[in-house]
Amino acid sequence: MSEPAPDTGMGYYPARVIVDLDAIRANLRRLAYAAPSAALMAVVKADGYGHGLLPVAGAAVEAGATWLGTAQLDGAFALRAAGHEVPVLAWVYAPGAPFEAAIAADIDVTVPARWALTEVVDAARVAGRPARVHLKVDTGLGRGGSFLEPWTDLLHAALDAEQRGEVRVVGVWSHLARADEEDHPSVAAQIEVFDEALGRAEAAGARLEVRHLANSAATLAHPRTHYDLVRPGLAGYGLSPFAHRSAADLGLRPAMRLEADLELVKAAPAGQGVSYGHTYTTTRDTVLGVVPLGYGDGIPRHASNVAPVQVAGRRHTVAGRVCMDQFVLDLGPDAGRLEAGEVAVLFGAGDDGEPTVRDWADAVGTIDYEIVTRIGPRIPREYLGAAQATDATGTGGAALAVNLPDQEATEALGRHLAGLLRAGDLVVLTGDLGAGKTTLTRGVGDGLGVRGPIASPTFIIARVHPSLVGGPDLVHVDAYRLGSLDEVDALDLDASLDDSVTVVEWGEGMVESLSEDRLEVSLERPRGAGTDPEGPEPGRVARLHGVGPRWAGIDLQWDRA
Ligand SMILES: *Cc1c(COP(=O)(O)O)cnc(C)c1O
Repeated sequence: MSEPAPDTGMGYYPARVIVDLDAIRANLRRLAYAAPSAALMAVVKADGYGHGLLPVAGAAVEAGATWLGTAQLDGAFALRAAGHEVPVLAWVYAPGAPFEAAIAADIDVTVPARWALTEVVDAARVAGRPARVHLKVDTGLGRGGSFLEPWTDLLHAALDAEQRGEVRVVGVWSHLARADEEDHPSVAAQIEVFDEALGRAEAAGARLEVRHLANSAATLAHPRTHYDLVRPGLAGYGLSPFAHRSAADLGLRPAMRLEADLELVKAAPAGQGVSYGHTYTTTRDTVLGVVPLGYGDGIPRHASNVAPVQVAGRRHTVAGRVCMDQFVLDLGPDAGRLEAGEVAVLFGAGDDGEPTVRDWADAVGTIDYEIVTRIGPRIPREYLGAAQATDATGTGGAALAVNLPDQEATEALGRHLAGLLRAGDLVVLTGDLGAGKTTLTRGVGDGLGVRGPIASPTFIIARVHPSLVGGPDLVHVDAYRLGSLDEVDALDLDASLDDSVTVVEWGEGMVESLSEDRLEVSLERPRGAGTDPEGPEPGRVARLHGVGPRWAGIDLQWDRA
């Protein structure tokens, strides 16, 4: 028998970064929904914006990202070493970069200039296989890539190399300068240059897999930038790229939480200078709390006397200077009940008044990107949602089960759902005859404000209930006799499904053939209950399940008042 290993104490840290992978999954589904015609590259550079490269990449792929993007090659190598097989693009390196290893690892590389093409071609010759390259054009950012004229020479050189089997020109791409600014004309100007570059590539015979331009801001705000592939980074982590729109405004949930255990709580007199330089002085007898994090952990020294921290539900401001490993909070005179070990939240998702990354960025005079990426690797990361709770369809999404004691409850649930529904939505109802599908639909119709009466659609296949309030119409379909939803379109209804809410009463097991986005509602009667719909109320259970990007991150929760 071997002795248990003694606890070395290694790995102890009085602070932690907690990363919510479910939030990252939901955010990426939200982004995919915003760019339905494009593939999704999750940008995981800088160690997944400080959240942790491999856990983030795993969650991203589970959420439907079919590409991963790293700036540095080492991140790309780490993704391959971890077994990721999706295309990976890296774009930051200098002459002498290990292109041979990149080609061997099947990593896509950017070619921004002749030197890179030369090195990549040489490496491909040694590797004995073509390199997958994306030609980068500088459409106006004034950073990476070639401006249009040298780019055209680069394009022809790359296509010559493709002829010789040395490279495969997979992509043409660029990056935007001001997509985060409301309607900034530079976006249209960059699109114009990009289209010119693409036109030249096409004319020269390029057979591109992907054309890509959009970062988070463009993915969310500029559909014309989507092309074949979008490359969001920040928004996937639940942070807003826009100065004047919060994460919540965008339907995003911040994934990173930073917290520490107070190392000391102590009474201090009025007039006490706090931390180096005494830039803060207590104004009354008070209680100080010492936080075991400092600029050595990536806490900006500019946070001194300005950044918010929450302790025991109350917000405080950093008191005095941030040191290398510690900073201080003035917890106020009535904090005497607090003790060492109390948790201090620097930032989180913003629930219950806790500070957010945006609060820190604003306080310090920087952007959300910098706050999260500089949080030091020495702080341990903990992951929530690490094991994906895959639902039956494998797509993730919101789910809820509710008890419906009577018909009124069923109708009330319908009205609740109407509040979540919008034009183009599809609701799929399953359940036995008499389980309450029509009753639920009546509630939906009531909530939407459409013309009734809503009756079982059994003999009419589909009925349109026009809106009486200027909202979407309700299309109520009995799909038992339809082979697929496409046949609904063929019915030539006096309504377009894109402008309506469509409720389909459907047979169990038939939903697989439906569109990607749908709200599934199954109504079940408890075993042994009678089947007479007008008979005594046996009660039902409704199981709600939002499927597809439309429903990712949507809170179905129903508080029946
Ligand atoms: C960082 C980066 C992105 C992602 O940008 P976000 O603003 O974080 O969405 C996309 N493309 C390139 C080239 C990048 O460097």
